[in-house]
Amino acid sequence: MQNSPLILDGKVVAADVKNRLKDDIATLLSKNIVPGLTAILVGEDPASQVYVRSKERQAKKLGLHSDVIRLDAHSTQAELLAIIHQLNNDAKVHGILVQLPLPSHFDEDAVIEAINPEKDVDGFHPISVGRMQIGLDSFISCTPAGVLEILDYYKIVTSGKHVVVIGRSNIVGKPMANLLTRKGKRGDATVTVCHSRTPNMALFTRQADIIIAAVGVPELITADMIKDDVVIVDVGINRVGDAKLEKGYKLVGDVDYQSVLPKVKAITPVPGGVGVMTIAMLLSNTVKAAKKLSL
Ligand code: NAD
Repeated sequence: MQNSPLILDGKVVAADVKNRLKDDIATLLSKNIVPGLTAILVGEDPASQVYVRSKERQAKKLGLHSDVIRLDAHSTQAELLAIIHQLNNDAKVHGILVQLPLPSHFDEDAVIEAINPEKDVDGFHPISVGRMQIGLDSFISCTPAGVLEILDYYKIVTSGKHVVVIGRSNIVGKPMANLLTRKGKRGDATVTVCHSRTPNMALFTRQADIIIAAVGVPELITADMIKDDVVIVDVGINRVGDAKLEKGYKLVGDVDYQSVLPKVKAITPVPGGVGVMTIAMLLSNTVKAAKKLSL
């Protein structure tokens, strides 16, 4: 008979991360430096609107300055680049965030590259990615950074463990795999990366001590694909229709939570797991940027 699984509560860890920022924020404020985060939102995508509002609200709650520049969906690349250029040169702005995805006529790579790497609080700039890759201090993409915080908070050791990362996106899967192979605390893992072209993925997931799923396919990982006592971190956030609910949908992860629950040692719920960590890490990166640029 197995012990009941440990539920890895992102809300608790996010509160801890934000709490740890308070001393740094107080020091900055005592020097009349208000850490400033500016988000740029292009178009009307409802999910992006929700994210950006939430980022702004949480930043203000911690005493940061936060604002949102809203651009029409038909704005041009040149207009967006001009705004980024302005923010790059504005000493009050320490962190710049362009909410992705952008409408399809934008060149996202060029937009990300236009951000001053010292203000790249999303950690998407090639300089941030490259520095992370070779183990130098850098801004780390907020979602994988949040996953590491969760594992650390709950004392889940990665050293020597086989971690299977599912997904190879630039913002989650790839940086996640890289961070876990780095030397030292929170790293030292043996990492397998699975993706859409991996045949018979269960062959790999069944060998994993830790599974990190960042796929975007609802409930893809089922009980038959895991071994007993695995730790699962579910990054996926998927809307699936549910006529019983007033809003008409519910959020589920990439893992079939109910089916795997009896077998796992620990698991993050969706919602309430990794999702809440991402904004906490963004605020952490903003405070880090303010310290580096101002102190
Ligand atoms: P993405 O679409 O950029 O990448 C998905 C990856 O999954 C790809 O690398 C692809 O190769 C792989 N994949 C697709 N189908 C697969 C399959 N059947 N088997 C194995 N691999 C498959 O997505 P992303 O931006 O990395 O996001 C992944 C998920 O994480 C989404 O549900 C997204 O909403 C969620 N997400 C959550 C947060 C958060 O704050 N918690 C942040 C970013 C993304």
